[in-house]
Amino acid sequence: MIMVTKNQTPSGIVEEFMDWIRQRNPGEREFHQAVYEVGVNVLPFLLEHPEYREAEIFRRLCEPDRIVIFRVVWQDDQGNIQVNRGYRVQHNNAIGPYKGGIRFHPSVNLSILKFLAFEQTFKNSLTGLPMGGGKGGSDFDPKGKSDSEIMRFCQSFMSELYRHIGPYTDVPAGDIGVGGREVSYLFGQYKRLANQFTGVLTGKGLAFGGSEIRVEATGYGCVYMMEDMLKHSGEDIDGKTAVVSGSGNVALYAVEKLIELGARPVTLSDSSGFIFDPAGINNEKLAWIKELKENRRGRISEYAAEFGVEFHQGKNPWVVPCQLAFPCATQNEIRKADADRLLQNGCIAVAEGANMPSEQAAIDAFQAARILFAPSKAANAGGVAVSGLEMTQNSMRLSWSREELNRHLREIMLEIHNRCVQYGTEDDHFVSYLRGANVAGFIKVADAMLAYGVM
Ligand code: NDP
Repeated sequence: MIMVTKNQTPSGIVEEFMDWIRQRNPGEREFHQAVYEVGVNVLPFLLEHPEYREAEIFRRLCEPDRIVIFRVVWQDDQGNIQVNRGYRVQHNNAIGPYKGGIRFHPSVNLSILKFLAFEQTFKNSLTGLPMGGGKGGSDFDPKGKSDSEIMRFCQSFMSELYRHIGPYTDVPAGDIGVGGREVSYLFGQYKRLANQFTGVLTGKGLAFGGSEIRVEATGYGCVYMMEDMLKHSGEDIDGKTAVVSGSGNVALYAVEKLIELGARPVTLSDSSGFIFDPAGINNEKLAWIKELKENRRGRISEYAAEFGVEFHQGKNPWVVPCQLAFPCATQNEIRKADADRLLQNGCIAVAEGANMPSEQAAIDAFQAARILFAPSKAANAGGVAVSGLEMTQNSMRLSWSREELNRHLREIMLEIHNRCVQYGTEDDHFVSYLRGANVAGFIKVADAMLAYGVM
């Protein structure tokens, strides 16, 4: 039990808890980091809430309900047999079916998926929709693969996964390396094996049960969160310079919304480097990038050649002066030195489009500087929120309009913002969106777990 003695300080309790986590999950660096990021707020909160503490809710929440690990065998275009590993971490279904994306990337391992599933549980709770947390994926690298190789891999992956998921059990979606094309192959194979047309995946094509706004939702939602934070602190997004990393689903639609709201996005990146366009990325340039990334599957360096701007090979964009930063590529892409550089250059707000893109020391630097900082579980919750609405539409067997869904997304992001303010406002009126998101996300799941008794 999380014992509280007179001499124990909040930091002592966190350290003791983390020793337990590290011992139980050796070598899982990203998972330790994710638990610490939540625990540092939730464990002190438990000091005032013996009902959660005595029932060991947080300790239970650090142990996934179930993890499935399986072999994925497929044949490449040359006829060679390839072997990959597939995973599904079903983290917690206290408030709804497991819900969370599937990632295909060579870096995928158990630690990364456990961190993502853990985060997802709190994020899904924050949306206010009835969704539990899960995450899955494979160490398969889609880069450079032909369409038929991608199809064969997806079919093989789903041939095992299908027995563990279902519209009332676990509803996966896309993530890094899994976009519309992959979701379609996965859904097609599920439908064939289960002989059922059900809303078992989200991010589907509009012709077969997909939802309007799902593609845009994570990027748009992240910018809405930024807009709300700025408004709450008496600022405006209009006219501000924004640095964005990544050039995938989240990054491109964050840029689209930034342009619409009058901000000036000046960078995009991929794993090879970043482009810096001081004039700002506008709608015409964005359309060109979408065609490059979504249809030709090209590299962001080609933008530099096309529009005559700088490409910085092997670098990330945090050196570029800006007021707003949107990390939208991957975990731990903002290191402490990057955070210091952003602060020196006048950055006043960060909204995390990617999952856990700031390492802990970078978060500490942002919090110490008292800038606006929206952690991923709040800032990128728009994607899963619209996935939740896709599930609702599938259950009702109807489709809502784009306008209606965008209105829902806007309202959900504002509610997330307001929950963060409710639980994160400090005595001097500074809002720790980090603490607000962690505590608000925890309470709903914890109350459900308390109600179920000991399990
Ligand atoms: P995509 O696969 O569409 O794009 C990922 C982008 O990030 C690409 O530009 C990719 O470059 C870059 N990237 C990936 N890994 C690295 C790396 N190790 N170093 C540098 N750049 C990298 O993924 P998404 O846009 O969907 O996801 C981005 C982030 O947002 C992830 O953290 C994901 O978990 C999170 N997220 C996504 C949601 C969604 O709805 N899609 C919902 C909530 C969170 P390259 O092509 O060179 O690999």
